[in-house]
Amino acid sequence: MKYNSTRNKRLHFTPAQAIAQGLSREGGLFVPCEIPSLSCEALTRLRDMSYQQRAVYIMGLYLEGFREDELDAAAAAAYGPAKFDTPAVAPLRKVDEDTFCLELWHGPTCAFKDMALQMLPHLLSLSLKKTDEDKTACILVATSGDTGKAALEGFRDVEQTKILVFYPKDGVSEIQQLQMATQEGENVGVWAVIGNFDDAQTGVKHLFSDPELREELAGRGYFLSSANSINWGRVLPQIVYYVSAYCDLLRDGRVQMGEEINICVPTGNFGNILAAYYAREMGVPVRKLICASNSNNVLTDFLKTGVYDRNRSFYNTISPSMDILISSNLERLLYLLSDEDDAVVADYMDQLSAQGRYTVHGGMLKAIQDCFAGGWADETATKATIAAMKKDHDYLIDTHTAVAFKVLEDYRKETGDQTCTVVASTASPFKFCDSVLSALGVEEQAKGVALLEQLSAVSGVDAPAPLAALGSKSVRFTEFGEKEQMRDEVRAFLK
Ligand SMILES: *Cc1c(COP(=O)(O)O)cnc(C)c1O
Repeated sequence: MKYNSTRNKRLHFTPAQAIAQGLSREGGLFVPCEIPSLSCEALTRLRDMSYQQRAVYIMGLYLEGFREDELDAAAAAAYGPAKFDTPAVAPLRKVDEDTFCLELWHGPTCAFKDMALQMLPHLLSLSLKKTDEDKTACILVATSGDTGKAALEGFRDVEQTKILVFYPKDGVSEIQQLQMATQEGENVGVWAVIGNFDDAQTGVKHLFSDPELREELAGRGYFLSSANSINWGRVLPQIVYYVSAYCDLLRDGRVQMGEEINICVPTGNFGNILAAYYAREMGVPVRKLICASNSNNVLTDFLKTGVYDRNRSFYNTISPSMDILISSNLERLLYLLSDEDDAVVADYMDQLSAQGRYTVHGGMLKAIQDCFAGGWADETATKATIAAMKKDHDYLIDTHTAVAFKVLEDYRKETGDQTCTVVASTASPFKFCDSVLSALGVEEQAKGVALLEQLSAVSGVDAPAPLAALGSKSVRFTEFGEKEQMRDEVRAFLK
């Protein structure tokens, strides 16, 4: 199977090219030319497999030219017991008779980014071999927290790769900072930039578009690459857990083969929910995909009106990984729903960058609304949901997951739709201790790693091992500097 670009469908790429390159040269995103389908027989076979086997089977459908033994090794390394604290990898927790929570945070950094970033490095390293690339990929990441740590853990000691992460010195939480400063691995680097997230991100963008630097690094056997969420190698591993969730429901007798479910996803960049859409298109019986936003509710408005408008206030919320006004992966959905009309997509994206808005035509809006519902939750409702879930179901959830549960509750009230629903849970509550404690009514809070123990004591839930171990890890990375020094930092890192 080949891949197209969303902005030029005459271009064809192998899966290895799409993953190695990340973004198409004219700015489009790579999409598979066709979506493979899963028959009932296939779902029945998958039902009795382990998570790793499901991953190999599903990813294999999209990865022509990758051998099964290669994918087996990748899945074993990415989702094995050394990385995930449960053999189920992405377990489903029953909340009530028709609500199940898909916990995507059992990996090494306790956020759902691990599901993709544990796999991407293996797919990238295989793709480099298959495209005869002999240079080493140096992944540069600017992070406001979660992605940086997940990328460091994913790329740590993976062949033919190095990774350097820049974070804003005063722009990440104490726990996030400690997670990165104590990172292990021979091929990793972490550096703090004086300034905010924008300073770090602008700095990284400059490095990518610096021809002199590129040439100098090429001479030393390196090229710069990114691990951001528009790489197909990040979307693909996410399709797996939605198929897997349906298989678990089948296996446990919660649904009958062919019975429809809904899926509710706390959304930022639209990557996670796009993966659910692919699972639906493959044949997983999904009625509605419910797109949950926080106060940055650009997607809620879009799903309701067909107008995507980023010209609005930006809010810093207690679900920071969803504080996004440009949901890049939406471009793939527009491509699929416009009957792969690359000119239409390119036009929308041009309007978005020139005016910050575009309006989709009526046919497209109808197609979107047939499949997607949307809603949003403010800070007060999000906190109230955390408290209610704890009280009513003895279930501790994080702020992002709480947004999803609140939006699901509203959706059910509004529509009366009681279809069995899978809610994607995207982070451990222990990653956002302060907000979760405050939602539980605890205003007198500890500092730093002591917050973990405090939340444990209040909730009766143990902190995940990788976070609990933070206090005893040695700090390896303490360096910081001005953003003008980032270039020299890269050169020194790749000496
Ligand atoms: C990244 C992230 C999200 C948003 O996922 P998208 O794929 O960007 O929509 C939601 N929750 C958490 C905890 C995240 O880290």
